[in-house]
Amino acid sequence: MQDIERVADHALFGKYELGRLLGCGAFAKVYHARNIATGQSVAVKVINKKKITTPSMMNNIKREISIMRRLGHPHIVRLHEVLATRTKIYFVMEFVKGGELFAKISKGRFSEDLARKYFRQLISAVGYCHSRGVFHRDLKPENLLLDESGNLKVSDFGLSAVANQIRADGMLHTLCGTPAYVAPEILGKKGYDGAKVDVWSCGVILFVLTAGYLPFSDPNLMGMYKKIYKGEYRCPKWMSADLKRFLSRLLDTNPAARITVDEILTDPWFTKGHKKPIRFH
Ligand code: ADP
Ligand code: MG
Repeated sequence: MQDIERVADHALFGKYELGRLLGCGAFAKVYHARNIATGQSVAVKVINKKKITTPSMMNNIKREISIMRRLGHPHIVRLHEVLATRTKIYFVMEFVKGGELFAKISKGRFSEDLARKYFRQLISAVGYCHSRGVFHRDLKPENLLLDESGNLKVSDFGLSAVANQIRADGMLHTLCGTPAYVAPEILGKKGYDGAKVDVWSCGVILFVLTAGYLPFSDPNLMGMYKKIYKGEYRCPKWMSADLKRFLSRLLDTNPAARITVDEILTDPWFTKGHKKPIRFH
């Protein structure tokens, strides 16, 4: 509360009026805000500079920000601008109205056709970023939002790399929230490939959309790690054979054998009913 008041005092450089807290991430808070001149709604992510302890961390963060600013895609939350005070960094982003995609899942799993619609939008966003050398590394339900027309918007592209900088050990996922979406090679603490890791998380997301529950879950954290590591999951009976086969390629524990984004584009489950190929323009 105190934090909101202090930020509100600044009124964010006289440009934005900060509103309610939308959510709390592992390293930042997100507020609703209004552009005072235009009335436009935005979301503002606030990061405390105290967490950036070395000049090289700051340089890396600046580099990531410059890449993020150049991303423009219909299924990626747009970063409008980055503002900073002595103590904080503010990421001013497009405000996405429709809430989280997974709020809809609580009303029941999706048909394969509906899941395909969202999954194709997700892959078009992921492929666009990968072709520009930007990896998400933290794809999970909280980062999949819906706009007013019911289309998907992926948030935090590039930002998780910033978060990784802040957590110098780089082990982003083990520190925050659930590891349910994390690829096995991350758990193994070996070096990993951002593109492969994103494909795995997309696989977990697709599984949840169509099955209605997580592929890897266990009341015990070590138990969950083990299942992820071994790639131990079971598809429900109702899944189509095409989807089961597709999931087995996405959730391949061997990153070298795992399906690539380019291969996803030609998979029979992915292309079903869609003649027009996706291009990462
Ligand atoms: P995390 O770090 O877990 O990804 P964030 O800090 O990014 O969480 O966001 C917290 C919550 O704020 C999200 O779960 C989402 O509901 C909301 N949120 C984030 N970005 C936006 C946005 N651009 N528009 C609307 N809501 C958002
Ligand atoms: Mg987020």
